[in-house]
Amino acid sequence: MNALPDGRHFFRGDDGYEPARRATVWNARLPQRFPDVIVQAADVADVVAAVRYAAAHDVKVGIRSGGHSWAANHVRDGGLLLDVSRLDSCVVDVPAMTAVVGPGKGGSVLAVELAERGLFFPAGHCRGVAVGGYLLQGGYGWNSRVVGPACESVLGLEVVTADGEQVYCDARHHPELYWAARGSGPGFFGVVTAFHLRLYPKPPVCGSSLYVYPIETADEVFGWARAISADVDRRVELQIVTSSEIPGVGLRAPGIVLASPVFADTEEDAKAALALLDSCPVRDDALVAVPFAPADLPSWFEAVMSNYPSGHRYATDNMWTSAPATELLPGIRRIIETMPPHPSHFLWLNWGPSPARQDMAYSLEDEIYLALYTAWSDPADDTRYGDWARTNMAEMAHLATGVQLADENLGQRPARFATDASMARLDAVRAQYDPQGRFHSWMGRV
Ligand SMILES: Cc1cc2nc3c(=O)[nH]c(=O)nc-3n(C[C@H](O)[C@H](O)[C@H](O)COP(=O)(O)OP(=O)(O)OC[C@H]3O[C@@H](n4cnc5c(N)ncnc54)[C@H](O)[C@@H]3O)c2cc1C
Repeated sequence: MNALPDGRHFFRGDDGYEPARRATVWNARLPQRFPDVIVQAADVADVVAAVRYAAAHDVKVGIRSGGHSWAANHVRDGGLLLDVSRLDSCVVDVPAMTAVVGPGKGGSVLAVELAERGLFFPAGHCRGVAVGGYLLQGGYGWNSRVVGPACESVLGLEVVTADGEQVYCDARHHPELYWAARGSGPGFFGVVTAFHLRLYPKPPVCGSSLYVYPIETADEVFGWARAISADVDRRVELQIVTSSEIPGVGLRAPGIVLASPVFADTEEDAKAALALLDSCPVRDDALVAVPFAPADLPSWFEAVMSNYPSGHRYATDNMWTSAPATELLPGIRRIIETMPPHPSHFLWLNWGPSPARQDMAYSLEDEIYLALYTAWSDPADDTRYGDWARTNMAEMAHLATGVQLADENLGQRPARFATDASMARLDAVRAQYDPQGRFHSWMGRV
């Protein structure tokens, strides 16, 4: 009864252990942490067997869906690493506009499949990220400023609990587990084997504006972006990416890219929603200025992925803030001055002010999101670049209200990611559903 699935598990030292461990992490920077056994679940029965095995042997469990946790949160020393990436089914009910999706399903794959059927889900911006980790932590996806973080579109979840029981949770069944699953991210205490999702009609028009500014205009661009932040139409996602070069437009010098997707009913609406972004005081200095161009999801995924090439070593850190530009600019200048080579970059995302959210563990967000993504390829540069994101965010921590779990670096820099009330409630729900601490939790917390 407590046996591991035959042919789908690898103990440390077995042939196949290291490839199985390597396969659980997208980041080329695989941590030197070694679970005792890795289980590659083929179905829910394998998940139940793995959790029961862990309980019988009193070992902890880490869970992997798409392996895009930058910190490789699920790879821990000792215990069992449960890889559920093969649970990637997707059943769509078009008239009901719902879907039942396995945790290993890629968000970008889901989004494109839904678009072909006239449907939409706020999947993440990148290829490879699976819905498993994405939905548990919140989920900042396409059109999320309108439809909310993707976890608000989770109607229910199928979960294998710490004692190996299969339960369904939603607002009426195991409501506290449902509350916790929407926002606890890598601290969730159960194995999600399926998400029941609310879908939306595909927005009729997708497009974006694109502006590229020279780095010398940084003070003006960020000062202006902060000043207009509350007025940016919620259908527009203003993303500002600063990097040491912008190969996409042939710029071999540091630059600032403002790429702003918009979802609207008509092209006129889309252009009107984007019009504010043409008002930057240094607009005449723009190296590229495209107020509107139609786009589709595949082309957006293509563009975003140029900032996140695979095969690189990554380190990230982040913060939410509502500080004024005058207070943010010294830190931004320091980020620019110390920026490692492309594709490392600094992201400014205009997010709030946000509407009231559902009652769920996800409970902390702010007007502006700042994130640093360091990317390099030579392991010999680990010391040189590995701490850039953390140190710069630590320097600005006095301006932060907290961090996102999407780009968490809690093992290196513990920080607040939920309200105090939510953290207390999460601890209470964990004590109820996982009293032995069977599942690994966040690698750090304040
Ligand atoms: C290139 C890149 C782009 C990204 N873009 C975005 C973006 O646009 N928006 C956004 O919001 N985030 C984004 N992220 C962050 C991403 O959403 C999170 O890292 C997310 O946790 C990844 O999910 P995953 O299933 O691929 O990762 P995993 O590493 O498999 O999972 C992350 C953690 O979630 C937990 N977990 C995973 N699956 C389960 C499960 N089935 N049951 C219980 N617990 C589980 C585990 O603790 C695990 O360590 C991006 C990350 C990368 C690397």
